Amino acid sequence: TPRVFSGIQPSGNLHLGNYLGAIKRFVDMQGSDFETVYCMVDLHAITVWQNPQDLMKSTRELCAGFIASGIDPEQSILINQSQVPEHAQLAWIFNCVARMGWMQRMTQFKDKAGKNSQNASLGLFAYPALMAADILVYHATHVPVGEDQKQHLELTRDIAAKFNHDYGVDFFPMTEPVIEGAATRVMSLRDGSKKMSKSDASDASRINMTDDADTLAKKIRKAKTDPDALPSEAKGLEARPEARNLINIYAALNDQTVDAVLAEVGGKQFGEFKPMLADLAVAKLAPIASEMARLMNDQTEIDRILARGAERARDITAPILRKTYDIVGMVPPA
Ligand code: ATP
Ligand code: MG
Repeated sequence: TPRVFSGIQPSGNLHLGNYLGAIKRFVDMQGSDFETVYCMVDLHAITVWQNPQDLMKSTRELCAGFIASGIDPEQSILINQSQVPEHAQLAWIFNCVARMGWMQRMTQFKDKAGKNSQNASLGLFAYPALMAADILVYHATHVPVGEDQKQHLELTRDIAAKFNHDYGVDFFPMTEPVIEGAATRVMSLRDGSKKMSKSDASDASRINMTDDADTLAKKIRKAKTDPDALPSEAKGLEARPEARNLINIYAALNDQTVDAVLAEVGGKQFGEFKPMLADLAVAKLAPIASEMARLMNDQTEIDRILARGAERARDITAPILRKTYDIVGMVPPA
C-alpha cells in the first residue's frame, strides 16, 4: 500500500498555515488508501535555538494538536522524531550522498540563516537531508506539505536517485509531494509577501490554533488589506496578495473553491467580509483549541501515545535502515 509521511516542527505555536497547508490534509489522507505516518520533528526544531522546556511543551502540544484536529493514533502512526533513531541514522548516510551545492540552493536555508549565514548551525544547512531521511526511512510514496516545502521534496528525490545510482540499486522510491487545496501557502496577516510562520517574531502576523475568539477577531480585523471591494472572480485577486490570502483562508476553512467564495462575497468591502471570516475561523478552530487544552491535561497519555507510535514506526524503519547499511557495506552485528 502507498505510504504517507509528513511532519511538523515543535518550534512554537501551531498556526492556521500549518493547519490548512498540512494537518487538515493529513486528516483527509488518513483512512483512505494510504498507510499514514505523522511526525513531530523535534530534531528539525533544534536547527535553531529552542529552550528545552519550551521544546518539550511544544512537542506535546503539537501531539495534542494533531489528535484534536482528527488524527487517530490508532489509524495513523503518530511519532516524535527523536524517539525513532533510524531517522537520524539514515540522515547521516544522506549527508554523505547530498552535495554541498545542492544544499546551498535551498531557499529555506537562505531565509532562516539570514545575512550572517556563517553563524547558522550546520544542522540548519543539513536540514533537507534529515527531511529526506524522515520520508525515505519509511519508503513513503506521498508527502502532503505546504508550498514552501516543494524544493525540499525535489531534493529528497535527488538524494534517492543519487543513492540508487551510486550503489546500483532500485531501493528508495521517488516520493510525490502532495500540495493541494486553496491554502497551500497562507501568508502573514501583516505582510502579503511573507508566509505565515511559527518563527515569525510578530504574533499579529499569524492566527495561532490556540488563539481565543477575541484575539482571533482582532487579528483578522487588523489584517493588512487594500481599500477596494472584493472582486467576483478569482482573476480579480491576481495583483492583490492580501485580499487573495484572506479569500484563500476562507475557502480552505469552509472546504469551498475560491470561485464559490467569491460568488458569495464579491462586491463586499473588507469591513463586512472580515467579521464573516472571523466567525468562520472561530467556528472551525475553537473546538480544536478546546480539545487540545483537554488533551494537554493528561501528559502521561500523550507520552504513552508517542511511545506506542515509536514502537510501531520502528517495525518499519529498522529493517529499511539495516537494508541501507547492507547496501552501503556496513558489517552487521554478529
Ligand atoms: P518554522 O517557522 O519554525 O519553520 P513553520 O510555520 O514553517 O515553522 P513547519 O513546521 O516548518 O512550520 O512546517 C510544517 C508544515 O506546515 C509543512 O508542511 C509546511 O509546508 C506547512 N506550512 C508552514 N507554513 C505554512 C503556510 N504559511 N501555509 C501553508 N502551509 C504551511
Ligand atoms: Mg517551516
